[in-house]
Amino acid sequence: MRPGFKTQGLSKSFAQGNATVDALTDIHLDTRQGEFVALLGPSGCGKSTLLRIFAGLDEATNGTATVHGESPDALRTRHRIGVAFQDAALLPWRSVRNNIRLALEMSRQKDMGLIDELIDLVGLSQFADARPNQLSGGMRQRVSLARALAIQPEVLLLDEPFGALDEMTRHHLNVELQRIWEESSMTTLLVTHSVDEAVFLADRVVRMAARPGRIEEIVEVPFPRPRRSELLDDPEFHSLVSYLSSGLFGRR
Ligand code: ADP
Ligand code: MG
Repeated sequence: MRPGFKTQGLSKSFAQGNATVDALTDIHLDTRQGEFVALLGPSGCGKSTLLRIFAGLDEATNGTATVHGESPDALRTRHRIGVAFQDAALLPWRSVRNNIRLALEMSRQKDMGLIDELIDLVGLSQFADARPNQLSGGMRQRVSLARALAIQPEVLLLDEPFGALDEMTRHHLNVELQRIWEESSMTTLLVTHSVDEAVFLADRVVRMAARPGRIEEIVEVPFPRPRRSELLDDPEFHSLVSYLSSGLFGRR
């Protein structure tokens, strides 16, 4: 089995004025290719920093990070990594369709037919020609997800992609994302502060804590796939959610 996300003794610090912030300390992670990993933790615990390092957009201060045994930078250069950020970062003068098309062009993908399929998938068919400023925050996040998927990446990195959505839309997109992931076998890292979302989607949940940013525990999620909405009512689902929540809220 090829390795997925791997770090060895990784740390990252930032200078903030005269102080140094330890955003990540001594991170050891070793996941498998094709796995769905969720990063769960309070704000400021270094989730986005770790995701940016795996995206090849930032560098560790100490230690190493690899994805599929390669440097993130090498994968990024070959357009093998799809990323969707918290703030959708769309080009304001381009329509939804053209924001997605641009990602395909830059990665030299030929399958332009995919664009409308993806727009449909994220439920924005009626807004394909709209500009980002005509969309709600949640809609912009969905465009950003479609754009990340457009290059048919090996590695998918999602930073709170559904944070601005209402519960129902969020759950609908969780189900869709699971389906896409199952069809494509992308090695996926999802940053979220929703315990439900992490447990519903992930094979493994990495729970982090802040000050300094660190991994507190890594929990395997045993539920078979495909996971259906009914899982949300399952007592075992609830007990895993409350186990992780009690850790997050320091009640354990
Ligand atoms: P999270 O995504 O879990 O909320 P971040 O990874 O964004 O956390 O941030 C972790 C810590 O690192 C925070 O204390 C944040 O202020 C700090 N930090 C993140 N990026 C920078 C930066 N570019 N410069 C200085 N400090 C940063
Ligand atoms: Mg963040």
